[in-house]
Amino acid sequence: MPDKVIAEHSIQEAKKLIDSSKRIVIVTHVSPDGDAIGSSLALCRILSQMGKHVDVVVPNNYPSFLKWMNGVKDIIVAEWKEVFAKGVFRAADLIFCLDFNIPKRVQQLAELVENAPAKKIMIDHHPQPGDFCDVTISHPELSSTSELLFRFICALGMYDAIDKNCAECIYTGMMTDTGAFTYNSNSPDIYHIISKLLEKGINKDILYQKVYNNYSESRIRLEGYVLYEKMKIFEDYNAALITLSCEEQQRFQWKKGDTEGFVNIPLSIENIRFSVFIREEENMIKISLRSQGGFPSNQFAADVFNGGGHLNASGGEFYGKLEDAVRLFEEALPRYKEQLTIKN
Ligand code: 5GP
Ligand code: MN
Repeated sequence: MPDKVIAEHSIQEAKKLIDSSKRIVIVTHVSPDGDAIGSSLALCRILSQMGKHVDVVVPNNYPSFLKWMNGVKDIIVAEWKEVFAKGVFRAADLIFCLDFNIPKRVQQLAELVENAPAKKIMIDHHPQPGDFCDVTISHPELSSTSELLFRFICALGMYDAIDKNCAECIYTGMMTDTGAFTYNSNSPDIYHIISKLLEKGINKDILYQKVYNNYSESRIRLEGYVLYEKMKIFEDYNAALITLSCEEQQRFQWKKGDTEGFVNIPLSIENIRFSVFIREEENMIKISLRSQGGFPSNQFAADVFNGGGHLNASGGEFYGKLEDAVRLFEEALPRYKEQLTIKN
């Protein structure tokens, strides 16, 4: 078993809270990704086996490339079931906050989570966790919340309760948060855990295909369009920018998840260390940022787009016009020139 990273007192406190709870809610961040959904569904299975009544709540819908996951159809999408979701939070004895570090990341659910009478346990790997949970298990050095959750399950003595479905959820979270083990993935423990998940019967090749080889034709054509027409290179700054308007997304029948991963593509160009994707949504502009090496994309996200995240993968929001968000980005680049152009 990989080294224990979670403090023993946190495990003991979490154990006590689980033992004394009947109704448990698992909540994860807005626009949930593979790690958010994978870790939530895995924990849901384990707690259900412990005899708990468990609900998984997400602020808005998950991407269609995760629709095959076991248990995903039972997830409560709060945006569609507002009243029901509220009731679930009010009735809970315990809330698990997975894959997010501050209440703002669950958007319209933030107040519900903060004000719920239930005790709260955070399991997360984002830097600078907020102080809103009774137990905070935060390990930014780990690849994914799903990896941390595997460790948490083992520390609870529940390793044997991990079945094939649960292992698939954990693996999917670890895979998607590391770009199929191409970044943040040098820790030997990751491969130790994968070998344990393989022993549980997962087929990692099929899981890769389900997540990454499952696109619609229009999604692939959108990728072609974006790379040919929409990618701008800022050679002096080793940076790249892709923008996409609502109209363009409609033209390619955009659906949730279709643009996931676009931001990573320019990093495969020689010398590009920083890549930003600015996408117009109905009522806001969503920004995704990625870097390679030491450039702090999360600092850029915080400074320019009121966002945050990890060093190499972060995000932010902008309320205004697409062209104004682009202007903010272009005006900010010179301020980071030194950090963007040093070799690291
Ligand atoms: P993505 O670009 O895939 O949406 O997000 C990449 C990373 O940035 C994730 O770890 C996510 O949690 C974080 N992130 C995305 N959007 C925001 C945001 O608006 N605010 C903050 N603080 N973090 C974000
Ligand atoms: Mn994550």
